[in-house]
Amino acid sequence: MPLVSSTPLLQTARANGYCIGAFNVHTLEMLQAVVEAAEETESPLIIQSTVGTVKHLGADYIAAAATVAANTNKVPIALHLDHCTEFETIVQCIRAGYTSVMIDASHHPFEENVRQTKQVVELAKAIGINVEAELGKVGGVEDEIVVAENEALMADPNECAEFVERTGVPTLAPAIGTAHGIYKGEPKIDFDRIDRIAKLVDVPLVLHGGSGIPEAQVRRAVSLGMAKMNVATELRIVFSDTIKDVFAKHPDENDPRKYMVPAKQALKAAAIEKMRLCGCIGKARDFR
Ligand SMILES: [Zn+2]
Repeated sequence: MPLVSSTPLLQTARANGYCIGAFNVHTLEMLQAVVEAAEETESPLIIQSTVGTVKHLGADYIAAAATVAANTNKVPIALHLDHCTEFETIVQCIRAGYTSVMIDASHHPFEENVRQTKQVVELAKAIGINVEAELGKVGGVEDEIVVAENEALMADPNECAEFVERTGVPTLAPAIGTAHGIYKGEPKIDFDRIDRIAKLVDVPLVLHGGSGIPEAQVRRAVSLGMAKMNVATELRIVFSDTIKDVFAKHPDENDPRKYMVPAKQALKAAAIEKMRLCGCIGKARDFR
């Protein structure tokens, strides 16, 4: 099937108490690795790219590769643009074939976040694709967006309700204590806040900063309403470390297949482990 909007995937996940893994990819091999992981485990899949990767590879190349993946596999696959602050890039990705976009205006005051999100929601609704927006600020480094830890602000539950009501946004990423990158120690997730937000907001919620969150914490967050978990850093590290290992043993290696194939295998295994944590293994059958 062609690429699908992630809205029905995530609504089904939230209604059934599981979460869908959304994986950031930066190369063709990384994209193929997460697709193979999804197909082998019959998991619905969200492939993501950051704005930086769109600039690096080109939206058309990424969308073309994801479209081939969707057309040649049985699992439902959505292609999502992660953390975008520029309307032009959002339009460029939609035109290329993305089926989900994040408008991240969380660094602006509430009213401006509402205005920008609403603008993207109107465009996306007319085309039938998903939109994600953020409230509060997720800490850490995400591509070109840097938020210092003391700057990271938690989302206010009442503001979340008002935001969803006014923008009509179909998926919401509220800042609840997770951070981008790798955690120093355990993440301090505010589960009570997730619970309060989920009681006021019925759209699927998105957990950013999914690298290195312990299993019990992921499961608890999912049970409260988190229906999408973003994983970037951990996968990049697995992929890169495998390549470093190959060069440590064979410093003169010059055949990219000799390091890309093991890196792809390692990334695939890491993605399957995240899908298991999310509880989405076998759930592609829900969409046949
Ligand atoms: Zn994020």
